[in-house]
Amino acid sequence: MTDAIDNTETLNRRTVLTAGAALLAAGTLGLPKMAHAADPFTLMKLPYGDKDLDPVISANTMGFHYGKHHKGYVDNLNKLTAGTPHADQSLKDIVKDTYGKSDKVAIYNNAAQIWNHDFYWHSMKPNGGGEPPAALKKLIDSSFENVEALKKEMITAATGQFGSGWAWLVAEGTTSAKLKVIKTSNADTPFTSGLRPLLVIDVWEHAYYLDYQNRRADHVTAVVNKLLNWEYALTNLSQPA
Ligand code: MN
Repeated sequence: MTDAIDNTETLNRRTVLTAGAALLAAGTLGLPKMAHAADPFTLMKLPYGDKDLDPVISANTMGFHYGKHHKGYVDNLNKLTAGTPHADQSLKDIVKDTYGKSDKVAIYNNAAQIWNHDFYWHSMKPNGGGEPPAALKKLIDSSFENVEALKKEMITAATGQFGSGWAWLVAEGTTSAKLKVIKTSNADTPFTSGLRPLLVIDVWEHAYYLDYQNRRADHVTAVVNKLLNWEYALTNLSQPA
């Protein structure tokens, strides 16, 4: 027993001495530290505080959805693209380039999910909902009859999306835009079909389950009536598809 203890102590002392010598040598010789290139994809900063969408989206949901799920897609994409030409591309270009390619499914899914989530957080704001700005309202009235009809269609699409996915307000066409509500599954996003996304609602279970459990309809109704950011939709109308 005594020998064993002595050996351990000797080993520890030697390890410390060796590490100390290495540090000293590195300092003396001016050896470079291990270089780490900055990860090209970063988690966006939220445009509001984590309690600001409560009670529709609690700080708890925000913590998991933004802090774990959204961040997870960013971390995954950085790992998947490290040392590849994708690391130098924009998210949108990655999504377009990998769409439908069976050998790039993981890169596509993570890049599209980052893009969708960046868009999702901006699609909401504290004290949202209400009346859209006049320029947008005019388009809504000509495409859906009125704002109430659009809201109903968004709620129906979001509630009816089977499994994980998204409900979108999109613009079709370039000159006199027509607005439409569409659904996409999993990570799919409208711009791969040439549609301009204006607003989105996330209907993956991670978006509402902690606050609403299985009551997806109640969650999306609250998002539409209390959080939708119509100003963001108007901004997106002028963006290219
Ligand atoms: Mn999500």
